[in-house]
Order: sequence, then structure tokens, then C-alpha cells
Amino acid sequence: MDSRQEYYKLFEAAGAVRKGHFELSSGLHSSMYVQCAQVLQYPRFAEKLGHGLAGLFANDRIEAVVSPAMGGLIIGQEVARALPELPGSIGGGTPALFVERDASGNMTMRRGFQLKPGQRVLVIEDVWTTGGSTLEAIRVVEEAGGFVVAAGALIDRSGGKIEFPVEAQALLDLPIASYEPDDCPLCREGSAAVKPGSRFVRSAS
Ligand SMILES: [Zn+2]
Repeated sequence: MDSRQEYYKLFEAAGAVRKGHFELSSGLHSSMYVQCAQVLQYPRFAEKLGHGLAGLFANDRIEAVVSPAMGGLIIGQEVARALPELPGSIGGGTPALFVERDASGNMTMRRGFQLKPGQRVLVIEDVWTTGGSTLEAIRVVEEAGGFVVAAGALIDRSGGKIEFPVEAQALLDLPIASYEPDDCPLCREGSAAVKPGSRFVRSAS
């Protein structure tokens, strides 16, 4: 599988792409939603997507993958599985770590995860909307002593507008137009926007 169109077809096959008239958590209206969890629930699709995403960083000598929970967990695991195992590793493959929010909402590295000083890290997330979770994960990795080589995501919804402090690549560019309710062409056509629900929206990143 090499064309990005084929990866997009996996999202469609899994029902992860929804078209209609939606009200985003930001209050903006949009004609399309993509929920990565819907495609990642299928292990063979997740494996293919992880392989495709890992391929974008094949020459970066990655020593660990770090993902922000929850959205980045599955795809981080699959990307790590697909990366080449480096000499001197313990034989389990490239480690896939994650960072998570504590009770006060701060992104932290817990569960005994550690990075070696200068360990080369790839930060992986499912969707970039504003890229906020990836930026926080980069900060946590640096505070833990790691060196962030690059960041990756399955989908970039921003149209390439996010500025990351490291090399950043998404498997799919999917700029999804959104509108102020007053200026929404779908509203003008007379339909009503529906809220897919925050579990589906996942626009917090
Ligand atoms: Zn509308």
C-alpha cells in the first residue's frame, strides 16, 4: 500500500468518515467529521496505517515513540511496531511510551516511563486540529531528557497551518472547511447542524 488515497479508503471502509452538517465543539459548523478511533478499532487497518506513518520517518533513527493519551495510544503502538529495531535494543522492538493528563489537566509522563538523555523520540498523535497535545507531548519529552526528532499524525486537519518546532508530517492532509454559524452554507440550505458528541468530535487536540 503506497498511495495516500488507499489509506483514506481504510477510513471510509471503517465508517470513520461522516458527512452531513455538524456543530463542532468550537461552535463552528462543518460538513465532515473523521473519527480515528473508528478505523483504529480494526487491528489490521491500524497496522497498515502505522506502517504507512512510520514510513515517513524511516531514516530518522527513532529510539522511542511517545504519544499523548488517549488519541495517540493505538497509532503510537503501531508506528513503533513498524519502525526498524535499532542495534543494542532489548529485542522487544522500538518502545512506545505515552504521556497523559494528571488530575489538574497537565500533560505528564507517568507509569515509570523513562527516557535516556538525548534519546531520539518520535511524537505520534491521531489527529492534528490545533496540534496542542503534540506540542505538550514534545515539551514533556524534552523535560524528561529526550530529544524530539519529529512529530507525526494520521490526519492533519489544519491544512498544514500548524507550526511545530520539529519536522512534522501527517499521513493524510484533510483540511476540513468550517464556518461561523451565521455564515454556514449548510444552514442557508435549511438543514440543522447536529452535534456528533464530544466522544466523536475529539477536537481537543
Ligand atoms: Zn450550519
